[in-house]
Amino acid sequence: MRNILSFVLLPLIVVMVMMSVHVDLLAHNHDITGNIVSAKCDCGFKTSMALGGGKMNFETVCIFPFYCKDCSSLIELNTFNEKYFCEKCNSENVMCYDNDSLRAHKSDISVFGWNLDRKSYVLKDDFYLCPQCKEFKLKFKSIGFFD
Ligand SMILES: [Zn+2]
Ligand SMILES: [Zn+2]
Repeated sequence: MRNILSFVLLPLIVVMVMMSVHVDLLAHNHDITGNIVSAKCDCGFKTSMALGGGKMNFETVCIFPFYCKDCSSLIELNTFNEKYFCEKCNSENVMCYDNDSLRAHKSDISVFGWNLDRKSYVLKDDFYLCPQCKEFKLKFKSIGFFD
C-alpha cells in the first residue's frame, strides 16, 4: 500500500512543482508592463510618469525618475542609457530616485519595482526629496499600468 501511494504521490508532487514554476513564469510575463506612477508633495508639486517599459521595448527601455541637482528637477530617464544627463539643463549631475540619500527611510514597502539583469530599481512608500520645496515630503504612488 505504501508503495502504491508513493507511485501516485511522487508524480503528483512533480506535476505540482512544475505547475508552480509555470505560474512563476506567467507572473514574470505579467511584470512586463509599465506602471503609471504619480509623484505628489504637500507643497503642490504634482506629476505623473510612465515608468518601466512596455512589452515591446522592455529590453532596451526602463524609465525611472531621477533628480537633477543643478536645476532641481524631477526628470525621467532611461536606465539603459550609457550616460545620464538632465533633459532640462543638460547637467550630468543627476541622481536616480532609487538612491538611498533621496529618501527619508520611513518605510520599506515597495510602490514600484523593476528588475533588470544587472540591477533592480525600486520606489518605496516613503518620503522622497521634493524638487520644488526640497523637503523630504514627496510621495510616489502607483496609479495604473500600461503595456
Ligand atoms: Zn537639470
Ligand atoms: Zn514639495
